[in-house]
Amino acid sequence: MKAVRRFFKSFLFFELLLGLRLTGRYLLSRKFTVQYPDEKTPMSPRFRGLHALRRYPNGEERCIACKLCEAVCPALAITIDSEERDDGTRRTTRYDIDLFKCIFCGFCEEACPVDSIVETHLFEYHFENRGEQIMTKDKLLAIGDRFEKEIAQARAVDAPYR
Ligand code: SF4
Ligand code: SF4
Repeated sequence: MKAVRRFFKSFLFFELLLGLRLTGRYLLSRKFTVQYPDEKTPMSPRFRGLHALRRYPNGEERCIACKLCEAVCPALAITIDSEERDDGTRRTTRYDIDLFKCIFCGFCEEACPVDSIVETHLFEYHFENRGEQIMTKDKLLAIGDRFEKEIAQARAVDAPYR
Protein backbone atom coordinates (compact mmCIF):
# COMPACT_ATOMS: atom_id res chain seq x y z
CA MET A 1 0.00 0.00 0.00
CA LYS A 2 2.85 2.34 0.90
CA ALA A 3 4.55 1.66 -2.40
CA VAL A 4 1.35 2.49 -4.32
CA ARG A 5 0.93 5.74 -2.40
CA ARG A 6 4.56 6.65 -3.05
CA PHE A 7 4.11 5.90 -6.75
CA PHE A 8 1.07 8.15 -7.10
CA LYS A 9 2.71 10.89 -5.05
CA SER A 10 5.72 10.99 -7.34
CA PHE A 11 3.57 10.55 -10.45
CA LEU A 12 1.38 13.55 -9.55
CA PHE A 13 4.34 15.71 -8.42
CA PHE A 14 2.77 15.95 -5.00
CA GLU A 15 5.96 17.24 -3.25
CA LEU A 16 6.48 19.77 -6.00
CA LEU A 17 2.96 21.12 -5.49
CA LEU A 18 3.54 21.28 -1.75
CA GLY A 19 6.68 23.34 -2.34
CA LEU A 20 4.91 25.63 -4.77
CA ARG A 21 2.15 26.17 -2.24
CA LEU A 22 4.71 27.45 0.22
CA THR A 23 6.27 29.68 -2.45
CA GLY A 24 2.83 31.04 -3.33
CA ARG A 25 2.08 31.79 0.30
CA TYR A 26 5.08 34.13 0.50
CA LEU A 27 4.77 35.53 -3.03
CA LEU A 28 2.48 38.39 -2.10
CA SER A 29 3.19 38.73 1.62
CA ARG A 30 5.40 41.38 3.20
CA LYS A 31 9.08 40.98 2.24
CA PHE A 32 11.82 40.56 4.82
CA THR A 33 14.73 41.52 2.59
CA VAL A 34 17.01 44.08 4.24
CA GLN A 35 18.38 46.64 1.80
CA TYR A 36 21.92 46.63 3.20
CA PRO A 37 23.79 48.96 3.54
CA ASP A 38 20.93 51.49 3.49
CA GLU A 39 19.03 49.38 6.03
CA LYS A 40 20.58 47.50 8.92
CA THR A 41 19.26 44.91 11.33
CA PRO A 42 19.38 45.54 15.11
CA MET A 43 22.69 44.61 16.73
CA SER A 44 23.20 42.94 20.10
CA PRO A 45 25.38 44.75 22.68
CA ARG A 46 27.31 41.46 22.78
CA PHE A 47 28.19 41.63 19.10
CA ARG A 48 31.79 40.55 18.58
CA GLY A 49 33.35 42.72 15.90
CA LEU A 50 36.67 44.45 15.52
CA HIS A 51 38.76 44.67 18.70
CA ALA A 52 39.67 47.80 20.63
CA LEU A 53 41.85 48.64 23.61
CA ARG A 54 40.25 51.04 26.10
CA ARG A 55 41.59 53.77 28.34
CA TYR A 56 40.41 55.14 31.68
CA PRO A 57 38.78 58.61 31.62
CA ASN A 58 42.13 60.17 32.66
CA GLY A 59 43.73 58.82 29.48
CA GLU A 60 45.69 56.01 31.14
CA GLU A 61 45.68 52.67 29.33
CA ARG A 62 43.54 50.10 31.09
CA CYS A 63 45.71 47.18 30.01
CA ILE A 64 48.08 46.01 32.77
CA ALA A 65 49.86 43.44 30.58
CA CYS A 66 48.65 40.49 32.65
CA LYS A 67 48.56 38.44 29.42
CA LEU A 68 45.41 36.55 30.39
CA CYS A 69 43.92 37.35 26.99
CA GLU A 70 47.02 36.01 25.26
CA ALA A 71 46.88 32.81 27.33
CA VAL A 72 43.17 32.19 26.78
CA CYS A 73 43.10 32.90 23.04
CA PRO A 74 42.40 29.54 21.36
CA ALA A 75 43.68 30.77 18.00
CA LEU A 76 46.99 32.10 19.38
CA ALA A 77 46.14 35.38 17.68
CA ILE A 78 47.40 37.71 20.42
CA THR A 79 51.06 38.60 20.96
CA ILE A 80 52.05 40.74 23.93
CA ASP A 81 55.38 42.12 25.11
CA SER A 82 55.57 44.14 28.30
CA GLU A 83 57.89 46.10 30.54
CA GLU A 84 57.84 47.77 33.91
CA ARG A 85 57.51 51.53 33.86
CA ASP A 86 59.41 53.95 36.08
CA ASP A 87 56.44 54.20 38.45
CA GLY A 88 56.52 50.41 39.01
CA THR A 89 53.42 49.64 36.96
CA ARG A 90 53.49 47.22 34.05
CA ARG A 91 52.34 48.11 30.58
CA THR A 92 52.52 46.51 27.15
CA THR A 93 55.19 47.53 24.69
CA ARG A 94 53.58 45.41 22.02
CA TYR A 95 50.00 44.23 21.68
CA ASP A 96 49.18 42.62 18.35
CA ILE A 97 46.08 40.74 17.24
CA ASP A 98 46.30 38.83 13.97
CA LEU A 99 42.81 39.07 12.52
CA PHE A 100 43.52 36.28 10.06
CA LYS A 101 43.92 33.94 13.04
CA CYS A 102 41.19 35.40 15.24
CA ILE A 103 37.91 33.48 15.32
CA PHE A 104 36.06 36.25 17.20
CA CYS A 105 35.20 33.97 20.09
CA GLY A 106 35.30 36.79 22.65
CA PHE A 107 37.42 34.84 25.15
CA CYS A 108 39.98 37.67 25.36
CA GLU A 109 37.23 40.09 26.30
CA GLU A 110 35.85 37.71 28.93
CA ALA A 111 39.27 37.06 30.44
CA CYS A 112 40.36 40.68 30.78
CA PRO A 113 40.15 41.77 34.44
CA VAL A 114 40.12 45.50 33.65
CA ASP A 115 37.78 45.66 30.63
CA SER A 116 40.67 46.70 28.44
CA ILE A 117 40.43 44.49 25.36
CA VAL A 118 36.89 44.51 23.98
CA GLU A 119 35.16 43.61 20.77
CA THR A 120 33.22 46.44 19.20
CA HIS A 121 30.21 46.66 16.90
CA LEU A 122 32.51 47.33 13.90
CA PHE A 123 32.31 44.70 11.19
CA GLU A 124 32.60 46.76 8.01
CA TYR A 125 36.34 46.84 7.40
CA HIS A 126 38.74 45.50 4.85
CA PHE A 127 42.45 45.18 4.15
CA GLU A 128 44.24 46.30 1.02
CA ASN A 129 47.86 45.45 1.78
CA ARG A 130 49.68 42.52 3.26
CA GLY A 131 50.21 42.90 6.97
CA GLU A 132 47.23 45.19 7.56
CA GLN A 133 45.44 42.35 9.32
CA ILE A 134 47.78 42.77 12.27
CA MET A 135 46.01 45.08 14.68
CA THR A 136 48.79 46.79 16.57
CA LYS A 137 48.49 48.44 19.94
CA ASP A 138 48.28 51.90 18.35
CA LYS A 139 45.48 50.83 16.03
CA LEU A 140 43.57 49.14 18.82
CA LEU A 141 43.91 52.15 21.11
CA ALA A 142 42.80 54.47 18.30
CA ILE A 143 39.62 52.41 17.81
CA GLY A 144 39.03 52.42 21.56
CA ASP A 145 39.47 56.21 21.73
CA ARG A 146 37.14 56.79 18.79
CA PHE A 147 34.32 54.50 19.90
CA GLU A 148 34.63 54.66 23.70
CA LYS A 149 31.12 56.07 24.08
CA GLU A 150 29.49 53.23 22.10
CA ILE A 151 31.68 50.60 23.83
CA ALA A 152 30.76 51.92 27.29
CA GLN A 153 27.06 52.03 26.38
CA ALA A 154 27.06 48.45 25.06
CA ARG A 155 28.79 47.18 28.20
CA ALA A 156 26.40 49.07 30.47
CA VAL A 157 23.39 47.50 28.69
CA ASP A 158 24.93 44.03 29.01
CA ALA A 159 26.17 44.48 32.60
CA PRO A 160 23.11 42.93 34.35
CA TYR A 161 23.67 39.67 32.46
CA ARG A 162 27.36 39.29 33.23
S1 SF4 B 1 38.28 36.89 19.94
FE1 SF4 B 1 39.00 34.84 20.50
S2 SF4 B 1 40.35 34.24 18.82
FE2 SF4 B 1 40.08 36.46 18.64
S3 SF4 B 1 41.79 37.35 19.75
FE3 SF4 B 1 40.09 37.17 21.22
S4 SF4 B 1 40.40 35.18 22.23
FE4 SF4 B 1 41.65 35.20 20.35
S1 SF4 C 1 44.06 43.28 27.61
FE1 SF4 C 1 43.34 42.68 29.63
S2 SF4 C 1 43.73 40.46 29.76
FE2 SF4 C 1 44.96 41.26 28.04
S3 SF4 C 1 46.96 41.72 28.93
FE3 SF4 C 1 45.75 43.62 29.00
S4 SF4 C 1 44.80 43.58 31.04
FE4 SF4 C 1 45.50 41.49 30.65
